[in-house]
Amino acid sequence: MARRTVSILGATGSIGTSTLDLIERDLETFEVVALTAQRDVAGLAAAARRTRARLAVIGEEALLPDLSAALAGTGVEAAGGAGAIIDAAALGADWTMAAIVGSAGLRPVMAALERGRTVALANKESLVSAGALMTRAARASGATLLPVDSEHNAIFQCFAPEAPEKIRKIILTASGGPFRAASRAEMASATPEQAVRHPNWSMGAKISIDSATLMNKGLELIEAHHLFPVGADRFEVLVHPQSVVHSMVEYVDGSVLAQLGTPDMRTPIGHTLAWPARMATPAPRLDLAAIGRLDFEAPDYDRFPALGLAQAALAAGGARPAVLNAANEVAVAAFLERRVGFLDIAAVVAEVLERYDPPAPASLDDVFAIDSAARTRAAEVMERLVT
Ligand code: NAD
Ligand code: MG
Repeated sequence: MARRTVSILGATGSIGTSTLDLIERDLETFEVVALTAQRDVAGLAAAARRTRARLAVIGEEALLPDLSAALAGTGVEAAGGAGAIIDAAALGADWTMAAIVGSAGLRPVMAALERGRTVALANKESLVSAGALMTRAARASGATLLPVDSEHNAIFQCFAPEAPEKIRKIILTASGGPFRAASRAEMASATPEQAVRHPNWSMGAKISIDSATLMNKGLELIEAHHLFPVGADRFEVLVHPQSVVHSMVEYVDGSVLAQLGTPDMRTPIGHTLAWPARMATPAPRLDLAAIGRLDFEAPDYDRFPALGLAQAALAAGGARPAVLNAANEVAVAAFLERRVGFLDIAAVVAEVLERYDPPAPASLDDVFAIDSAARTRAAEVMERLVT
């Protein structure tokens, strides 16, 4: 592979460390420009030392002295603050991994896209809240946007861009999460510990809760709609507990193309890192004979109302997905802090969507105004729930 410069935004998280794992195997090919993290000074400094990064950025500005101390004598430059993360994204490495969680990723992703290089996108919230603005910026700068999310990476590998009108359906698979077979009563009393325990994937806390409510699949439907130019009504969700088939594309002739693999994010990350070539990764090989069978079932919209809320937001478009995303982030954080119950997450999102229906955002500033107004309303709704 040709030598290239790379940056990782959110280097200390689940996706960030999987990305580092691939890059560190070949530091001859991958020259690290910038690594960022929010709070984990030790993890960030260690990764910057190992990869001989040019720059390490900590989001919490108060932690900059600690980072500088940890990097003293290494030659790695240290910086701090949300603005410094955006500046790091704007350095324009040949390849940038966008793996910050939540809407905090929006401005860094936009800064990377505006540089017109390759952006490997894990931060789905940026496409959910500002998909039209993001894809427009990518087109304007000539940036290549490669999907990291396993479903979208699978679809990307099966999607014939020259003939989108020949696509009948795009089928996103969902594991069903830890509560796939749980009763409503069990879900009502679910603890954060139970909800983050994903059956197949090991991921950050926020996306793990989203997987348990199926909001993750809803966010992914919206994400897919921005990445793949077919009508909003052509996306479907299929529950597939083994997480082997990562998604499928059905063509008008009846052919259904799928991408399969073990549930290890190093496969889709490696795909975006080597694209359009291929690289070896240490992900476990798929052994279908050992797995024996693959199961599929329709999603249950009654037990998982978040999926329906996201589908409605996708169909309505405009600001609805940004409102949905912001309310969900607040409700998930409250659930993780045990301030609301598991079933309250979707209930809070539904109520915020009912109360707040702003016009479509025309800029990233509009998106942040909507995001913050939706957060305020979510907090109000939750206030009533707990009292
Ligand atoms: P994580 O919580 O493990 O890591 C998040 C990273 O973002 C950390 O490096 C953290 O320091 C940084 N961060 C957190 N808050 C920040 C802030 N306010 N400003 C700047 N940086 C901040 O999350 P993750 O599981 O790695 O997920 C990252 C993104 O990738 C999410 O958008 C998630 O939906 C998406 N994603 C993850 C997976 C997965 O397998 N983990 C799969 C598909 C998509
Ligand atoms: Mg996914």
